[in-house]
Amino acid sequence: MLSASDIKRRAVELGFTACGIARAQVVDAEARARYSLWLEQGRHGCLEWAERNRGVRDDPRLLLDGARSLVMVAMNYYPAWRQPSESAQVAYYAYGDDYHFVLKKRLWQLTAWIEQTTGDHSRAFVDSAPLRERYWAVQAGLGFIGLNNQLIMPGRGSYFMLGCLVTTLELESDEPCRDSCGACRRCLAACPSGALDGCGAADCRRCLSCLTIEYRGEQLPEWVAAVKGERVLGCDACQRCCPHNAGAVATTVPEFEPHREFLSLTRADILNLTPAQYRRLTAGSAATRVTLRNLQRNAR
Ligand code: SF4
Ligand code: SF4
Repeated sequence: MLSASDIKRRAVELGFTACGIARAQVVDAEARARYSLWLEQGRHGCLEWAERNRGVRDDPRLLLDGARSLVMVAMNYYPAWRQPSESAQVAYYAYGDDYHFVLKKRLWQLTAWIEQTTGDHSRAFVDSAPLRERYWAVQAGLGFIGLNNQLIMPGRGSYFMLGCLVTTLELESDEPCRDSCGACRRCLAACPSGALDGCGAADCRRCLSCLTIEYRGEQLPEWVAAVKGERVLGCDACQRCCPHNAGAVATTVPEFEPHREFLSLTRADILNLTPAQYRRLTAGSAATRVTLRNLQRNAR
């Protein structure tokens, strides 16, 4: 038999910064209503997947027969080295290897260990299922959702990737985190495009992160040029300004070591990249989510 403490200890040994447990159950009515309203207002923009699989998104038990617990993990990706301002700007999370693989590799190890020790079954997810990771991270006591729409871990900040193990193992759950931003409103002022609504949600039609990464149109909307600056992939403005990130500690996860050659490119360099150069420079990185065509669109 494994306890919640055993799971948390093993998660930290595997390289996760934090681990919390939530009971597998339906998402609460208030969170479901907020999500429905966000969709109705069209604020998911080009994220069409957000409309799909509502049943699973509202009830993670549909992801695994007999699911009883959600093991939520967070991994620090804050880079030890950051781009000079003249380089084409890339969000910190995409500096190193693709986080999907980095986290999943370790979650699979956790799954195998649980299965060998208890016979219980688990499934690992890192952005790979319609699962509300931030909501469940709050329920698992890891942190709160800030006005910048990010999970903020008190005392640690928000430069963390989240992963989830849905498991049949019955585990003692943590208390949900009740912290909040208090009187702070810094990210609302720092957002270059006014994408934050002041209630913890973002309008993806205006968010530069969504537009530079997920938007597939030939051209970015015309207004973007006036606010985008040197950004070509993502945007960290609402995290950089957050006081919870003032003491961010660099990651020690080796795979998150920045891909320096890619990160030293200027916008002019990106415009001259050939497909072969692009493939070599972005190999293994989360940057491959953005095709060369869209990266060059963003650079233009
Ligand atoms: S990522 Fe950038 S554009 Fe999007 S909400 Fe944050 S600051 Fe605004
Ligand atoms: S900058 Fe302030 S308001 Fe925004 S997420 Fe951080 S603490 Fe909350």
